[in-house]
Amino acid sequence: MWSRLREVFARELVVLVDPTNALHARRRKQLTAAVGTVFTLGMAAAMGVAPRNAYDDPHAPRVREAIRLPDLRAQLEQLTETDATFVREERMQRGDTIASLLKRLGVDDPDAQAFIRRNTTARGLFALNPGQTVQAEVDENNLLMSLQANLGGDAKASRELVIERVGDDEPVYKARVQSVKNELHYEMLSGAIATGGFFKAMDAASVPDDIVQQMLSIFSGVIDFHHDITSGDRFRIVYEAGFRDGTFVRNGRVVAVELINNNQLHQALWYAPEGSTQGAYYTFDGRSMKRPFLRSPVEFSRVSSGFGGRDHPLHHQWAQHKGVDFAAPSGTKVMAAGDGQVEFVGQQNGYGNIVILKHHSGYSTFYAHLSGFANMQRGQRVSQGQIIGYVGQTGWATGPHLHYEFRVNDVPLNPLAIAALDTPALSGPARQQFLSYTSEMLSRINALRTYNVASANN
Ligand SMILES: [Zn+2]
Repeated sequence: MWSRLREVFARELVVLVDPTNALHARRRKQLTAAVGTVFTLGMAAAMGVAPRNAYDDPHAPRVREAIRLPDLRAQLEQLTETDATFVREERMQRGDTIASLLKRLGVDDPDAQAFIRRNTTARGLFALNPGQTVQAEVDENNLLMSLQANLGGDAKASRELVIERVGDDEPVYKARVQSVKNELHYEMLSGAIATGGFFKAMDAASVPDDIVQQMLSIFSGVIDFHHDITSGDRFRIVYEAGFRDGTFVRNGRVVAVELINNNQLHQALWYAPEGSTQGAYYTFDGRSMKRPFLRSPVEFSRVSSGFGGRDHPLHHQWAQHKGVDFAAPSGTKVMAAGDGQVEFVGQQNGYGNIVILKHHSGYSTFYAHLSGFANMQRGQRVSQGQIIGYVGQTGWATGPHLHYEFRVNDVPLNPLAIAALDTPALSGPARQQFLSYTSEMLSRINALRTYNVASANN
């Protein structure tokens, strides 16, 4: 199945990147359907019966894997019949005190209240945000038997606070925080980028901010979101979201993402090799998405992208001054283009405030006209994407911009040409592992698709 899939991708990619032929325009249209059918993330079909429509529609509905959740209340009610205890669930409200929360939960128990007030673990109850739920179990005298609350966590696991009465005569309470597994759902979203720009498209498709940030980071080696994104680009994204007892806890990782940028297909899949805790994003043919250098060292954010819209100027003054200027508002974050070491941080004539980083193999990068620096010292190690300073117009600059230079053994090169550096594909057993993982992932997503289509018809 895999090799067939790759074949199709390879063929379609060629079609995608060759816009010269009129025939190809038609093929591109067919491609949308082909990708929807064959691909991979399978998201289009997950939206319903018409892949193309869902794919093109920025308002395509959010699809969630439906999991039958245990009905806790029913179980607890059964318990109450035999043990004469009562369970109540309440939401934390703004301004809640221990007394007011316990009262709403139907707890009338001064001992329990005193315990919660003085026990540090139990007081974690009040780190809850308004809207989060708390469950309490009381006996027939409204004395607290047990209480539990979700303290948050990551997508995969929640931290749950449990307070319990132990001992019958002398009331003694114990509090503990335990880690409980969340139900992991796969959320699938898709959309098209219109004239409103990237962030507007993300909002229209209801992509959460933390997921948008991950997407930017995944493609940071191959796409300059300031300049490459155009109207008509499309995306599909699959990410994890953790739920506990049916309540959303937190979004997790983007597991697969596709971006069609300028008719070029970019795909990434999260993969952690067996026995390794460290994962990374790979193309579907097993190449790492991480490149030695970012496509743009200027952070792409709602703030900076608002500057001049998508037509904002990138001055190609490469031949004149051996660098590339990225126009951006003062204060926009400047990131280390690659892993390296701080060689210089301070002022230089003309450059104003400048950071120079030294990288492997004689590479160095220059970031000039900064308004300020991140807290850094000479010799310090920095990693790709780390904030090193802020856009400004110190030195010889007529407006706020980042002057960016890329040198090899001190010879300036055009930074825009560097980004094409490719990464080797996985090989040997690692590749076999990768391929079996991707095919498993694909079949899971396909199964999901069937389920959602079925449930949508109910
Ligand atoms: Zn410049």
